[in-house]
Amino acid sequence: MREFDLVIVGGGLAGLTAAMYAGRYGLSTVLVDQMGAGGQVVNVEKVENFPGFPEGIAGFDLGPLVQEQAEAAGAEFVMDTVQALEIDGEKRILRCAEEELQARAVIVAAGSSLRALGIPGEERLLGKGVSHCASCDAPFFAGQDACVIGGGDSALDEAAVLAEQAARVLVIHRGPEFQAQQVILDKVASMDNIEPVLNTHVAEIVGDDSVSAVRLKDVTTGATREQALSGVFIFVGLEPNTAFARGVLDLDEAGHIRTDILMRASVPGVFAAGDIRQASVAQLVSAAGDGATAAVAAFRYLRNLP
Ligand code: NAP
Repeated sequence: MREFDLVIVGGGLAGLTAAMYAGRYGLSTVLVDQMGAGGQVVNVEKVENFPGFPEGIAGFDLGPLVQEQAEAAGAEFVMDTVQALEIDGEKRILRCAEEELQARAVIVAAGSSLRALGIPGEERLLGKGVSHCASCDAPFFAGQDACVIGGGDSALDEAAVLAEQAARVLVIHRGPEFQAQQVILDKVASMDNIEPVLNTHVAEIVGDDSVSAVRLKDVTTGATREQALSGVFIFVGLEPNTAFARGVLDLDEAGHIRTDILMRASVPGVFAAGDIRQASVAQLVSAAGDGATAAVAAFRYLRNLP
């Protein structure tokens, strides 16, 4: 079992920033992530609200840049899947698929996964018209009709990316109005081939070998209808990746890790950063801020500083 001062779980912006800070503070640090660095933002075509990039920056460029800074500061990166967090006195043990890592401090920055709708056809037709990434899959729907399900920033952002290729994009939301940032709403409103479909529940994704339609239900009238289309992009929120910490850390009802203002979780020496923690605003810049706070707090914990 390899031993470090600090193990960081998760290579999104929160974990990467924590690794950079921990390295600069002289802590022996390993960051473990099952996919490599970047986190969910690797799928975002252009990040427009990260300070310092007035022209925006591609999501897949941002992670490697911070990884470079973290590696230059001395942090090690490991690609592995964390399966369990165990506490043994002063030792914090991460049981991963390939090896076990031990440290006196842990920062959990494992982020979130996209929430599933749980409707018929969703799983069966994944990769056959159902997608979770417009920047990856939009070209498959060039000149065709597709829909995005959801009413938040992700759904509207991805609709704009999809609409650059698709003939028509329906944005189907169960509520009466979208909840995205105004700048995103304005962009979507300026695109002629995006159509809002509000107060509408998607009951089923229909198709044999690939998506051919969605079955819709108007939540106010109860009327049902089938809408022919060939692509379905689902962005209905996030679920925290805390299964490996369940029963060890105090979680809220939705599974987020409860922390104090210094990102300290319920077990001494364990910290959480980014959208995995309770009350995160789930923005890239706040994830980076959480990562810095958690690393400073971990350093103070390890050095017995107030
Ligand atoms: P979100 O803000 O939680 O929005 C989820 C959307 O999905 C809501 O419209 C919600 O509707 C709907 N929804 C949830 N469960 C549903 C279900 N079972 N069936 C149908 N609809 C359902 O999630 P998000 O858009 O993925 O954003 C996550 C976080 O990332 C947010 O903090 C967001 O600000 C951030 N983000 C920021 C940017 C950016 O700054 N450019 C881009 C992407 C994401 P209800 O309101 O009815 O529940």
